[in-house]
Amino acid sequence: MPGYYIWTVGCQMNKAESERIGSYLEQLGYQPRESAGEADLVVVNSCVVRQSAESRVVHKLDALRSLKNSCREVTVAVTGCLVDSNVDLLRQSFPHVDHFFKPGELPRWVAPQGTETVPALPRHPSASTFVPIIQGCNNFCSYCIVPYRRDREKSRPMAEVVCEVNELVRRGVKEVILLGQNVDSYGHDLPGSPDLADLLAELDGTDGLARVRFLTSHPKDMSLKLIEAVARLGKVCEDISLPVQSGDDEILKAMRRGYTVEHYRQLIAGIRRRIPGIALSTDVIVGFPAETEQQFEGTVSLLSELRFDTVHVAAYSPRPGTFAAREFRDDVPRAVKRERLNRIEQLQKKVVAEINARLLGRTVEVLVEGKKKGKWQGRTRGGKLVFFSSDGDLPGQVVNVSIEKTGPWSLQGSIESRNVNLDKEEKWGTVSR
Ligand code: SAM
Ligand code: SF4
Repeated sequence: MPGYYIWTVGCQMNKAESERIGSYLEQLGYQPRESAGEADLVVVNSCVVRQSAESRVVHKLDALRSLKNSCREVTVAVTGCLVDSNVDLLRQSFPHVDHFFKPGELPRWVAPQGTETVPALPRHPSASTFVPIIQGCNNFCSYCIVPYRRDREKSRPMAEVVCEVNELVRRGVKEVILLGQNVDSYGHDLPGSPDLADLLAELDGTDGLARVRFLTSHPKDMSLKLIEAVARLGKVCEDISLPVQSGDDEILKAMRRGYTVEHYRQLIAGIRRRIPGIALSTDVIVGFPAETEQQFEGTVSLLSELRFDTVHVAAYSPRPGTFAAREFRDDVPRAVKRERLNRIEQLQKKVVAEINARLLGRTVEVLVEGKKKGKWQGRTRGGKLVFFSSDGDLPGQVVNVSIEKTGPWSLQGSIESRNVNLDKEEKWGTVSR
């Protein structure tokens, strides 16, 4: 039996796509291998959102040169955001790569001619599984390479997503995480223009499914209807990922984000009014071209004010072909970027430790995902990692856990009962900030 190995770097979309590529290959008779050295087909699923990710990909591809030169026959393929429309240039840089295929596509060239196309759902899905619902992005934020590599937005038909979720549930999945670069614009390109709230309402009726999450949202596109849907629908988790990127209006304008700090502040206030226990995460870029100390302080004070559950922070990295790389000088020194990044990380560690501490003594609903170092591990509806001990076979079960210890990155507790009958508001585990 031929073997395959997939090396993945990057966002959840890449991880979801790698799962699907693996599943597709297994349906064609390939078996997973532990390392590239043992595989007949090596797929590199790449990310180039920042230079650091791109460098890792290039390093990996260089390392695969010697494998390709060994006497064993091995096929090397590359997908993900490294693959742009100029494949000829890529072929020149990486002559040892046999195939390049665009992000979101399957390695269909592997299938013998005439093979029926097979659905590529994860074969051994975990309790929580990603489901891409919209590909590409129409936004062209000035710093971002994604729209150049993943093309314009293309939504999957609602019936197709619903059917896929039903099949995943039949295979034991309890939670689906709907994915897209901007899930809030889901459906605008479909007949009848259904939206994400419609899709959530439809999925909420899926028997056997415990939870639905979605990411990533865009502050300029998030609608009241969507907020209402999260508040109302029992299976939809109180967990929203809403990247702000900067706490300064001038920087937001230069980033071409399409909203102001005040709009963002009002949006968060509206969400919290309607869903008091909502878990919120955000993304921030520090050291954007010409970002002054004062503008950076604007970001720090916004994060201190809004108190997110999670902040993903990145140092600005100029990406060839983007508006910012063309028009702005990358003039914030590397050491300053690092210092700003550290400051936000330190602030966030403190904020989240305080938020989590308020969960002490509370009962939270946990979907059990697996075991780590002898303890069960799972997540709350707000996405917080929880560890607890218990006998029995728990993966995929939804249990109540009483929280006994908290820290910035995880919670620990004891299982209470396997019957979950907290109502939606109790499940929120409402925490005042
Ligand atoms: N669509 C989402 C949004 O609107 O923010 C996020 C998608 S983006 C691929 C993921 C994160 O990567 C962004 O939130 C941003 O913080 C970061 N990112 C994108 N381009 C970047 C760049 N050139 N330099 C540093 N970070 C970048
Ligand atoms: Fe990139 Fe902006 Fe699209 Fe997010 S919304 S993927 S940051 S262009």
